[in-house]
Amino acid sequence: KVLEENRKLYNQVQDLKGTFTRSIRVYCRVRPFLGGQSKYLSTVEHIEEGTITIITPSKYGKGHRSFNFNKVFGPSATQAEVFSDTQPLIRSVLDGYNVCIFAYGQTGSGKTYTMSGPTDLIEQNQGVNYRALGDLFLLAEQRKNTVSYDVSVQMIEIYNEQVRDLLITDEIRNSSQTGLNVPDASLVRVTSTSDVIDLMNLGQKNRAVGATALNDRSSRSHSCLTVHVQGRDLTSGTILRGCMHLVDLAGSERVDKSEVTGDRLKEAQHINKSLSALGDVISSLAQKNSHVPYRNSKLTQLLQDSLGGQAKTLMFVHISPELDAVGETISTLKFAERVATVELGAARVNK
Ligand code: ADP
Repeated sequence: KVLEENRKLYNQVQDLKGTFTRSIRVYCRVRPFLGGQSKYLSTVEHIEEGTITIITPSKYGKGHRSFNFNKVFGPSATQAEVFSDTQPLIRSVLDGYNVCIFAYGQTGSGKTYTMSGPTDLIEQNQGVNYRALGDLFLLAEQRKNTVSYDVSVQMIEIYNEQVRDLLITDEIRNSSQTGLNVPDASLVRVTSTSDVIDLMNLGQKNRAVGATALNDRSSRSHSCLTVHVQGRDLTSGTILRGCMHLVDLAGSERVDKSEVTGDRLKEAQHINKSLSALGDVISSLAQKNSHVPYRNSKLTQLLQDSLGGQAKTLMFVHISPELDAVGETISTLKFAERVATVELGAARVNK
């Protein structure tokens, strides 16, 4: 009982820490068993508030291991529940902050489900991207008597350290403007959620072009939807700029280099490079180093303005429940635990 009380207290302190010192917030989500798999044992022994306990087989030191995060969502959590704790971040974008929300985890653990939703998309299954944009327009509408907002989006894919614009069409090409971190990617003005849905569909279609097997390809590339917001205060004329990156990362699984050659080896090396560059940026932020190595990969260059400084960052870390994934699950949770310790600096209540 005392241990339980301590753990609750610890979680409350972590939560307060997240609020006041603006750590990177980390939410863990466990995918349900798919199809007929539920008869198998799960790696997840217990979930309670911000703590998840994993069963570790003998190879990893037989027993249990607990990890603490800001929140843990079990297999039955709905898309709405998962999004509900993300809403304050959307408000921040309209207040002129930079925000980064990214999904991390091995292939098949549910990253795309969290960010976009399943392929047979119905409204209640919509992921973070749709909900975030929906909220953004709703809040902008509520503030329309005091602030006038312009919203534009970019959608890119990073594959083998090459950035690909996913919103390119002839019509868009002609009207494109210059973006922030991806100067050549189309920046398209949007005024409603349905505009955004159309663009996301276009992005998905463009992503498929040139990919032999989309699922394969999408698990080995990072995709990023960036929303740029510019607000003009109608009384003072002050301009506020905020931006939000919504990132579905490539699968974090380690590829056995002895088993792959050619294109697969090249892809694996690039994914390794960018995810470890992300890890290095996070470590140097954690150690409060004066030099943060953002320039080591396209991914960290892209996220530079949304990781560190005054930016607000949220990582959704995903795990699969299958026992045979336990090795990846443990290394994913260890990475996430490291991310959760990063403090981005003291909070400023007003900007
Ligand atoms: P990833 O993007 O990490 O490779 P996906 O999001 O494609 O993984 O998920 C793999 C499969 O599991 C998909 O069929 C997806 O619809 C399903 N899935 C993932 N998370 C959930 C969930 N929370 N509830 C129901 N199905 C899910």
